[in-house]
Amino acid sequence: MAQIRLKNLSKRWDSFVGVDNFNLDIADQEFLVLLGPSGCGKTTTMRMIAGLETVTEGEIWLGDKMVNRLEPKDRDISMVFQSYGLYPNMSVYENIRFPLRVRKVPRDQHDERVMRAAEMVELTDFLDRRPAALSGGQRQRVALARAIVREPNAFLMDEPLSNLDAKLRVSTRAQIKNLHHTLKTTTIYVTHDQIEAMTLADRVVVMNKGVVQQVGTPTEIYDNPANTFVAGFIGSPAMNLVPGEISQGTFTAKNIKVAGFDPELSGKVTLGFRAEDAAMNEGEGEITAPIYSIELLGDATMISMRVAGELVSVKTAKDFRAEIGDSVSATIPTEICHLFDSETGARIT
Ligand code: ATP
Repeated sequence: MAQIRLKNLSKRWDSFVGVDNFNLDIADQEFLVLLGPSGCGKTTTMRMIAGLETVTEGEIWLGDKMVNRLEPKDRDISMVFQSYGLYPNMSVYENIRFPLRVRKVPRDQHDERVMRAAEMVELTDFLDRRPAALSGGQRQRVALARAIVREPNAFLMDEPLSNLDAKLRVSTRAQIKNLHHTLKTTTIYVTHDQIEAMTLADRVVVMNKGVVQQVGTPTEIYDNPANTFVAGFIGSPAMNLVPGEISQGTFTAKNIKVAGFDPELSGKVTLGFRAEDAAMNEGEGEITAPIYSIELLGDATMISMRVAGELVSVKTAKDFRAEIGDSVSATIPTEICHLFDSETGARIT
C-alpha cells in the first residue's frame, strides 16, 4: 500500500513559513508533481515526506502508518535528486547494488535485481564503468536504477532532470514516464518546469510561497486555473492577463473591449485568455493595438501587442505577414475568457 497522506502539514523556521498547512491524499500508483517557482516550498515538502526534514505541525501517513517519527531509512521510499549522488569509486553495477547491500537483501538476489533495474534504464552496456566515464544523462539513469532496485513503496524525485541539456531532458522525461507506466510505483516529483509537470503528472499541485494554490489534473489546471498566479505560471506562453473593468456585461481596458459577460458583474477585474484561443482578424476585433513583437515558431506565429499596459500574445498562422508597429485586430471569443477578482486573484468565471 503506497498511499501517501499529508494532513495539515507545516514547516516553520522561527517566524518564516516554508510550507503552510498542506493537505493532500496521494493515491496508490499516482504520479504527483509539485510545481512552483524557486522557494515555494516544494523541496521542503518532499524532504519532510522523506524524513530528511522535521515536521513543525501536521502528519505524514504512508499507507496506514503515521511516519512523522520514522527514520528516513525506515520509510521505504527511494529518492532521486538533481545531483546524482553516485559513489565515484564504485562501478555502475556497484552503485546500483548499493541499496541492496545496505538493506541486507540476500546476496543471491542482487545480480538479478541489479540487472533488471539496469535494463529498465538501458544501462546494461555500462555496468563496469565508473560514474566519471558516463555522460550526465547516463549518470542520472544510474541514479534512477539505484532508486528502482530497492523496489520501494514510493519514489520521491527532486528536479531529476535539471542538470541535463534540453534534448536529454526530453528523452529522460519520456523514460521516467515509461518507468512509471511499467512499475506503477507512487511517485512525487518536484519541478519548477511547468512543461515537465504537465507531461508527467496524473495530478499537479501548484505552490506559491509555501501555500498550495491548486491541485488538479494538467488539463484542469490549464483550462481552469484557480487564480491569476496559476494562470500566469502554466502554459507557454502563460495565460494573457489584462486588468480592466466590467460593467453591464462588457469588459473594458485600453485597446480592448469584450462583451457578453454576466451583466450582474461590476468593478475591477482581470481578464484572462490563452494565446491560442484568440485569433488575428482582418476587420474589427475585441483588441485593436499596434504589434509589439512577431515571433516565428515554425508551425505558427506569435504576435504580441500592448493592451492595458500588459503584453498580450495571440497565436496565428505561420504565414501571417505584418510588421512591428502595424495596427492590427484580434478576436477573443467571450466563452473562452476567464475573469479573476482583481484583489484576491481568485477566478470568478
Ligand atoms: P527551489 O526550486 O529553489 O529548490 P523550493 O520550492 O524547493 O525551491 P524550498 O527549498 O522548499 O523551496 O524552500 C522554501 C523556503 O524555505 C525558501 O524560502 C527557503 O529559503 C526556506 N528554507 C529552506 N530551508 C531552510 C532552513 N533550513 N532555514 C530557513 N529557511 C529555509
